[in-house]
Amino acid sequence: MARPNLGRRTLDSYTVKHIGKTIRPGDCVLMRPSSSSTPSYVARVEQIEADGRGGNVRVQVRWYYRPEESIGGRRQFHGSKEVFLSDHFDTQRADTIEGKCKVHSFKSYTKLATVANDDFFCRFEYNSSTGSFNPDRVAVYCKCEMPYNPDDLMIQCDGCSDWFHPTCMDMSPEEAERLDHFYCLICSPEDEKKSNNSRVSTRGIDVKVIPRRNESIQQANTEAAGKLSRRPTYVLIRFASIWTNGSSISTLPNSNHSQMPTRLGLM
Ligand SMILES: [Zn+2]
Ligand SMILES: [Zn+2]
Repeated sequence: MARPNLGRRTLDSYTVKHIGKTIRPGDCVLMRPSSSSTPSYVARVEQIEADGRGGNVRVQVRWYYRPEESIGGRRQFHGSKEVFLSDHFDTQRADTIEGKCKVHSFKSYTKLATVANDDFFCRFEYNSSTGSFNPDRVAVYCKCEMPYNPDDLMIQCDGCSDWFHPTCMDMSPEEAERLDHFYCLICSPEDEKKSNNSRVSTRGIDVKVIPRRNESIQQANTEAAGKLSRRPTYVLIRFASIWTNGSSISTLPNSNHSQMPTRLGLM
């Protein structure tokens, strides 16, 4: 169990008194940020240690980065609850833990019936010094060729099975949800393209829609999670890359981020 380590010992668990929660290695936690305008930091507890008398409890953590903390910044396809598992380890006082949270895999996140405040998801590991991601490729969808953002509603073409954003198809999300069948511009019959009536607007049950997260269309969502991995088109995710379709261009690495971000303000 506990073993000596330079006068300190490791703990199997620790109850953070001010929140009344017991944490263990492997738990994900929210930690107090250095400024009140910053959202809580998300971290995974790697180890808990205390001094010989059980005081001065500290946690070794591995940080999750939010997209805006990454070198490339937040992109359009990043979900509001998306975090990256970084290679940035740290030691913090245990009393800076504000609460526990859950970091889901992308697939299990898309299957949640509802998303609570303490639910996050992670689909990339992030190298905090180079800004690179693992995996470094991600499937893209729609004519905008963007990776899937689980916050956004998408609709599936009955012809090619690709998924599309209603707005990229000149529809409102409400219109998309009412569709019976949907064919993208490529799959629409020629005569229908001209009159732009490829979309039948009577309400039906055939159309496949991926709801935005926080909506409770669980069935469609589960189906979507299985089908979203089908399309074999991928883009390379790099902090300084230019998307292949050129719609979102990030130019140069941000030199402010050349050193490791510091989260030691509370130590
Ligand atoms: Zn689109
Ligand atoms: Zn199509």
